[in-house]
Amino acid sequence: PEKWFGVVSLFPDMFAPFTQQGVIGRAVKSGKLSVDTFNPRDFTHDRHRTVDDRPYGGGPGMLMMVKPLTDAIQAAKKVGGENSSVIYLSPQGKPLDQAGVQRLAGIDRTILICGRYEGIDERVIESHVDDEVSIGDYVLSGGELPAMVLMDAVARLVPGVLGHKASAVEDSFTDGLLDCPHYTRPEVLDGQSVPDVLLSGDHEKIRQWRLMQSLGRTLLRRPDLLNHLALTEEQQRLLEI
Ligand code: SAM
Repeated sequence: PEKWFGVVSLFPDMFAPFTQQGVIGRAVKSGKLSVDTFNPRDFTHDRHRTVDDRPYGGGPGMLMMVKPLTDAIQAAKKVGGENSSVIYLSPQGKPLDQAGVQRLAGIDRTILICGRYEGIDERVIESHVDDEVSIGDYVLSGGELPAMVLMDAVARLVPGVLGHKASAVEDSFTDGLLDCPHYTRPEVLDGQSVPDVLLSGDHEKIRQWRLMQSLGRTLLRRPDLLNHLALTEEQQRLLEI
C-alpha cells in the first residue's frame, strides 16, 4: 500500500468500523491504505495479562506498563520497518493542522502510539518516539480517536483516495482559507433561495463569488488564519472591497 499505519492500542476493535466504512473503507479495500494494530495485551505473560502499572511518586491514576508497550512497538517496527516514523498521540504534542497533515502525508510508514490511563513512561517517549501530536487543547481518555483523526486526515491526501468529485484541493485550509458555502437541491428551501450566481452557469463569476465567500468567512470566523497567509493579488483585491 502507499500508506501504512501500525497502531499500538489496547483497544484495537475501535479501529474496525473506521477501516471498513466510507472513504477510508474504500482506501483500505483498494489497497491504497493499510492499518495494522498491535495490542500490548498480546505481549503480556502473566495470568491477568496486566497492561497498567503504578506511577513512581504516587498519586491517582495508572500508566501503561512499559514492557508490553515497548514489545508492541517493536512488533510494529518488524512489520513497518526500523525506519518507520513513531508518533505518540498526546495532548502535550504539537497541535495538528492541515500543514502538519500534509507533512505526515509524505511519510510512507507511520507507527501511532495510543496512550491510555494517565499516559506512558517519559523514557519510552524519549527513546522510541519521533514526534508527539495533539488533536486539540482538550483531554480524551485514550489516543485511539486522535489516531483515527490523524489517519483520516492523512488518507484523504493519498492520491486516488478521494475521487475527482470530492477533491481535497477545495476543502477548508488547503489554500489557507475556509471553504465557501455549498448548496444542493431544491432551489428554494423553506423560502430560502440558492444564490443566483450559482445558477448563472458563468464559471468565472462563480469562481470569484466562491473565493469572495471564502475570504469573507475566514475574515469573520478565523481572522487568525489570514495572519500566516501570503494572499494572491486577486485575494488581496477582493479583501479590500
Ligand atoms: N496525563 C496526560 C496529560 O495530561 O498529558 C493525559 C492522559 S489522557 C487521559 C490518555 C491518553 O489519551 C494520552 O496518553 C493520549 O494518548 C490520549 N489523548 C488525550 N487527549 C489527547 C489529545 N488532545 N490529543 C492527542 N491525544 C490525546
